[in-house]
This record gives sequence, C-alpha cells and structure tokens, in this order.
Amino acid sequence: MDQNLLNEICVRQLTLSGVHEGETVAVLSQGDERLDYADAFLYAASRLGASSYHLRLPNSLDLSGAWAVGDSGLGGNPEAVEALKRADMLVDLKFLLFSKEQFAIQDAGTRILTCVEPAPLLARLMPTPELRERVEVGAELLAKASTMRITSPAGTDVTYRLGVYPTMSEYGYTDTPGRWDHWPAAFVFTGGADDGVDGTIVLSPGDVLLPFNTYVQTPVTLTVEQGFITDIRGGLDADLLSSYITSFDDPRGYGMSHVGWGLDERAQWHGLTQFPGGMGMELRSFYGNVMFSIGPNNELGGPNDTPCHFDIPMRGCSLFLDDEPIVRDGDIVVPEMRPATRRTQ
Ligand code: FE
Repeated sequence: MDQNLLNEICVRQLTLSGVHEGETVAVLSQGDERLDYADAFLYAASRLGASSYHLRLPNSLDLSGAWAVGDSGLGGNPEAVEALKRADMLVDLKFLLFSKEQFAIQDAGTRILTCVEPAPLLARLMPTPELRERVEVGAELLAKASTMRITSPAGTDVTYRLGVYPTMSEYGYTDTPGRWDHWPAAFVFTGGADDGVDGTIVLSPGDVLLPFNTYVQTPVTLTVEQGFITDIRGGLDADLLSSYITSFDDPRGYGMSHVGWGLDERAQWHGLTQFPGGMGMELRSFYGNVMFSIGPNNELGGPNDTPCHFDIPMRGCSLFLDDEPIVRDGDIVVPEMRPATRRTQ
C-alpha cells in the first residue's frame, strides 16, 4: 500500500484510539518486519500531537517457524518492558499476544493495539464506533449469561458453563487504559469453566482452522468432556488436527479455550481465498460466525498456558445464552447487534 494511504489509515486508527497531545505512543517491531507500518504510526502519533518512538527488536533466532503463542521475544529484555510500561499506548507490530510481558505492560495501564494484518485488510475493515457499540451489546449479554449452548445442523451440541472467566470484546481499536485490542476485529468471547464444557462439536466443510489458515474439507467430530477434548474423529482434517496437537506433547493442548461470535458484516468468510490470511482476523470477525478455541485460557486468567492453540470459526451454527437465541443458523438475531441496514429484515 502507498505510504501516504497507510499514514492516513493509521491517523484514523489512532484518532479512534483517543491518542492526543501529551500522550506517548510506543511502536514495537521486530527485525525488518512492518517498518512501513512503524513509520505510519509514528507519523500518525505526531499528527495528533503525541510524542512517539519506535522500539525495534532483533530478528528471532528461533528458526522452527512454529506458531506458538506466549513467546514475546521481550523475555530477556526487561529494560524494553519497563519503557513500554511508561507509554500511554503501545502499537504492537510483532504479536505479543498471551505473553507475560504483554500482561505486565497492560497492568501498568498502557493500552495495546496489535496490528499485523495486511494493509488492504486494515483499510477495508477500518473499525467504527457503530461496530464497537454492537460488539459491546454482545459483550454485555455474554457477561450476564451462565450457560452457552451451541448447536448446528451437522450435529454440534455443546454446552459451556460460564461465569468463571471475564468476557472480552475486540472491536479493532482501544481508548481505554490497560485494554488490549487487535486491528481489525469484531467479536466477543469468554471461556467455559475449566471442567464445564461438555458435548459434541462437528466441524463442517467450510469451517476454518486457524492457524492452519485452511477450510475444513471433511467433517470432524470432537467429543468434549469436562472441559477437554477426549476424542477426534473423521478424515484427513481430523488427522491433521490430532497430529498437530499431539506434536506439542502437552495434554493441556486438548483443553477448551475461548468461545464467542463475530459481528462484522464487512468481513468475508471466503477471505482466505483472497490472500494467505495473515493472523486470520477477518475469519474470526465475519458476521454470525461462532468461534470456539482449543488450548490456553490464561488470556482470560485461567491456568492453562499451553502454547498449542486453535481458533475455529464455524458457519451456520446457532448459539444460545441461557436458552435465549443470539445467533440462529449463522445469523445474529438480537436487533441491537445487527448492522442498521439489517435491522428491519
Ligand atoms: Fe484464540
């Protein structure tokens, strides 16, 4: 993307994120990745009267290429962590998610925005206050619920006991001290009690496996008992899922992680056909998807910090909170969560 365009969308982003005169914005990157993004955010911070700096970490020496969450690259760098704690806002261009350094920076009151997706996607899914409002309606409903049940025509019927973990919202910007968000994003989630998820989940063709960034081709039947997957059955996709989880040699990789639904009508289910997918934020956000996850729940304050993590957005599901329908057959039924153009339908 042209640098001027990138500059402009970053000005819009930091404006939404409430950056103003007197604030300090830190931009964190690694190696030679996203240096154009770093320039754009530094420009945007200056335009809004904030002071800013760029903290650039050396390239990772880990050549495994594995997508393991929790390793921030900041572990051996306490001076950098201390500096970032003093910023009002941190723009994370390297993906700190789930690391203890990220939690420490947030605890110090620094708000964090992760930005690692391709620039055209950032522009197309530019956050809006209207989308934030709809996401927050969802988060409020989710926070009050004590059970979530998900069903699908393919045979999914799983129940999460809620109330143990907080509800999180992601709407693509953050103007709240200590709060983290990811651009782009539009979904809500929480986690079931550690031993409180039971039932069957049947993945159907077209459901999405992240971080494989692939669409399921053959049905996969997952049996869930007391918060853990006890059986994975099906064809090639089931074998790939099993093989990947097994490779971590960690039984906590079978734990049930966050669960919720997506709200952005601009995000496209077929997004992975348009580019390799990046982190898959478009797939997490598409309107009416029901996404469940496997692996760690430490992001929500839980004890499971396994690096083995899947996010699995599913199409065509129904989701009920305390037996009230929220999503029916992949369509959100609560009017306040629907885009204005779809409220009368
Ligand atoms: Fe996740």
